[in-house]
This record gives sequence, C-alpha cells and structure tokens, in this order.
Amino acid sequence: MSKQLPHWIDGAELTEAGARTGPITNPATGQVTGAVGFASAALVDRVVTSAADAGAAWGRMSLTRRTQVLFAFRELLNARKHEVAAAITAEHGKVPSDALGEVQRGLEVVEFACGLPHLVKGGLSSEVSTGVDVSSIRQPLGVVAVISPFNFPAMVPLWFLPIALAVGNAVVLKPSEKDPSAANLIAALWAEAGLPPGVLSVVHGDKEAVDALLTHPGIAAVSFVGSTPVARYVYETGTAHGKRVQALGGAKNHMVVLPDADLDQAADAAVSAGFGSAGERCMAISALVAVEPVGDELVSRIVDRMGKIRVGSGANAEEPDMGPLITREHRDKVAGYLDIASGEGATVVVDGRTVDAAGEADGFWLGPSLIDHVQPGSRVHAEEIFGPVLSVLRVPTYDAALELVNSLPYGNGTAIFTRDGGAARRYVNEVEVGMVGVNVPIPVPAAFYSFGGWKASLFGDSHAYGPEGVHFFTRGKVVTTRWPEPDAQTGVNLGFPQHD
Ligand code: NAD
Repeated sequence: MSKQLPHWIDGAELTEAGARTGPITNPATGQVTGAVGFASAALVDRVVTSAADAGAAWGRMSLTRRTQVLFAFRELLNARKHEVAAAITAEHGKVPSDALGEVQRGLEVVEFACGLPHLVKGGLSSEVSTGVDVSSIRQPLGVVAVISPFNFPAMVPLWFLPIALAVGNAVVLKPSEKDPSAANLIAALWAEAGLPPGVLSVVHGDKEAVDALLTHPGIAAVSFVGSTPVARYVYETGTAHGKRVQALGGAKNHMVVLPDADLDQAADAAVSAGFGSAGERCMAISALVAVEPVGDELVSRIVDRMGKIRVGSGANAEEPDMGPLITREHRDKVAGYLDIASGEGATVVVDGRTVDAAGEADGFWLGPSLIDHVQPGSRVHAEEIFGPVLSVLRVPTYDAALELVNSLPYGNGTAIFTRDGGAARRYVNEVEVGMVGVNVPIPVPAAFYSFGGWKASLFGDSHAYGPEGVHFFTRGKVVTTRWPEPDAQTGVNLGFPQHD
C-alpha cells in the first residue's frame, strides 16, 4: 500500500480519518507513488480556529524575534534546498536544476522578508496642528490562506509565506494536490526555524478545502495562483465573503521579434522560455510574433536548437533538458493542440509526439513542438496550452504586433527583442501586460519588486511579493495624538476639526 502524505497542523503531521484521498504520481514513470488526504471542511475549520490563536500571539512577538525566525528559516532552506528540489522532481517531473532554480527564487523572497523591521516601518508627522502629531502603522490581518498551483510547488508558496508570516499573520497553505510533498518539507523547516506551532498549517485537498477557506469567517485574506477560471471563482467567492483577495491566473505570453533583433539571441531565448519546465510556467513564452521579414530565418534557427533538446527523466544520471508533463490527461490535452493547429490551417513544423524520451514508456512525454503560420484569434493562439508548444505568428509591422499582443484577455508577461531603444521604450509604454522584458524572455521581477499580470492574469489589485506583498498582508492605521500640556487651554468646540 502506498504511503499517505499527512497534513501539517499545529506543528505536527496529521492524517484525517476517513477522508477522501487523491493519488500522487511520478510523471516520469507514470507510477502512483503515494496518496494525499483531502481535507474536509470540518478539518479546515479546526485549522483556522487554532491558527487564529497561534497567529495572535505570533503577531504580538517582537520584530527582533520574528526576524530571527526568518533568518533561521533562510539558512535551513538553503541547506536543505536539494531535498526540496528532489521532492519536486519526483512529483512534478521538472529536471533537478530547474527544481533547484525555483527553490532559489523562493529563497530570494525569504531574503527580502528578512528586512522585516525596515519593511513595516511607519511614518510620523510632528505638529500637524498645534500640539498634535500624526503617525501611521501597519498591522497584520490575522489568518490568511494561500492556495497554490502544481507548476511551482515551492516557489509560489514562497512568494507569499515569508512576507505573510513576517508581518505577523498566521497562514493556512493549500498546495496543489498533484505535487504536495514540497509544502510539507517547507512547513517542517519553518517549525525547525522556531515558528510557533499553528502559525503555519498545510491542509491538502481539492475544491472542498478551497471552498471551506473562501467562505470561512476566520480567514481575512486569500492569495491564489492557478488557472484563470479558478482564479476568477476564487476572487468572486472570497470577496463576496468579505475577504481581501489577490488571485493570479493563466497566461499566454508573447515574444515580439523586430527585424533588427539579434536573431541568435532571440532564437536562444524563444527556445529556453518556450520549452523550459516543459512549457508549464506561467511566464513561459508560448507565442512568438515575428515582424517580417525575419519569420523564416527565426523559425530555421529555432528548429536547429530544438533538435538538440534532450527530453527525459530527472532521475537520470545525466540530466536532460526537459522532463515530462504533469499528468497523462494534461499531456494528451496539450498534444491535441497539434491536431487542432493542422485543422486551423497552421503548419506543425516540429511534432513533439514523435519524441524519443530517455525515460520509462509510461511517462507523460511530449517533446518540444513548433507550429508556424498560426492565425490570430485561432484556438492555438488564443487558448493557454501550458505545455511545450511554441506558436509562431507573422505580422508586417510593429503596430500589428502590438495589436496582436493586446488583443488577448491575458496580460501576464511579454518580451520584445530589438536593438532599437526607441521601439523598445514604445512597447514598454503601449503593451497591456504586467511584466515586460526587453531582450529578456522571462521577466520575473526580482523579490524587491512585485510580480503580477494584468487583465485575466490577475484578479484584484495587489501583485505578489515585494512592496505590494507587504501592503497586501497588512492593514494601515493612522493615529492622531494630542497630549495635554501643563498650561494648555481647552474648551468645547462643536465645529469640524481643522488644523491650526
Ligand atoms: P488550477 O487552477 O487547476 O489549480 C490551482 C489551485 O486551485 C490548486 O490548489 C487546486 O487544488 C485548486 N483548484 C482547482 N480547481 C478548483 C476548483 N474548481 N475550485 C476550487 N479550487 C480549485 O491550476 P494548476 O493547473 O494547478 O496550475 C496551472 C495554472 O496556473 C496555469 O493556468 C498557469 O498559467 C497558472 N499559473 C499562474 C501563475 C501566475 O503568476 N499568474 C503562476 C503559476 C501558475
């Protein structure tokens, strides 16, 4: 019988008796390696209640002591990052260097949060009126929920946990049920770092657990990352229940290549950003917009590079470049877009279904695929495929490229490749997308900025981590103070208070 992954509640593992479970699968072998319990609404209620008590005490703890926990967690996660990465490779399928890369990006947010005392400093204006001072402080919200997707089982939780915890909240994390183990490892490291029991809980589960969090009166805020339909649902349900919500959704990221671009640099970037992590990144490049006449040359250079990508299991002694997709169903859905493309009159230049993967036959393999002459607005262009499929669209001018990028409902990331600073500057100003790269294909903001898209890629108005993360997980309070002075004259005044 396969092992069942427990929840992490009140600083210890817990398995809920009689609960529903889901399988944990190794995508490189197709084998079920374990099971994960799906929390009931009753368990979620219990967790939120104990988090409220633990969080209140944690929020009152001094900044110095909370900062010490953050530094200790930083050291522990850095020391154990290979263990976390190995769990990711075993359940997600991404190759070890890529798994380590996502832990590293998560560590950067921990390091940002280590500056806690500076991040939550308030302001003070002295003598705004005679004898009156005004100060502002930011305080924690209480218990907040983090609901994360399968594609970054460590990094996405780490976009939120360090900041939410640092500023004095308790957190209930509901990771993806497809690759849940990394979350438990991370929670155990927080406990080892000195985070008191109950301040961080991990409840595994599916829609039942998510709905219980979205409707629970004890949850003050929700940070969600996942697909657009679920993000919209989470935003609408959470806000309808009085919560602050940031819900990051899906993406269709376009890379525009102008005729003056360095075509080798552009081809390298398109291949790296299109097929890294098998295209299962919210910042992956999935559409290449070639401003003619560069289309043929660019496609030729990309095809050359694609031929060298080694697909296989991350467990192989010699690390491949790209692993499998997350589930068999998802692999088949992604592969299905190659037929859809042919039906829509596009040209399948490289068909990943013929890949010879270095891995077991039952793995969820699909090689890098390239579709040329994709038509604007076709299904292959408009829908998020979320796999190793790169579409090429050809347009005559910069204006046509811009119109194409702005025509879609998504607005997560985009890139422009050019040597023309004026054109790049214009694109940065005119494109309706939250994160823009200039000759950088995956412009994920550094931890001291904030991450987030526009339009259907983010519901709510707060981006993740950085200054907006600090703002999201705290609420402001402004205090107006007057102290009686020995010779102060007082008197009744029913007029509206004014400064004098
Ligand atoms: P998903 O929407 O299927 O699942 C995300 C989370 O929601 C999981 O924890 C899941 O258990 C839960 N969930 C799923 N269906 C639900 C439902 N009907 N009701 C309530 N909860 C539900 O997403 P996924 O497949 O895990 O992740 C891939 C998606 O996430 C892609 O669309 C990708 O673009 C997106 N993503 C976006 C970003 C970003 O920053 N914008 C980052 C990473 C991933």
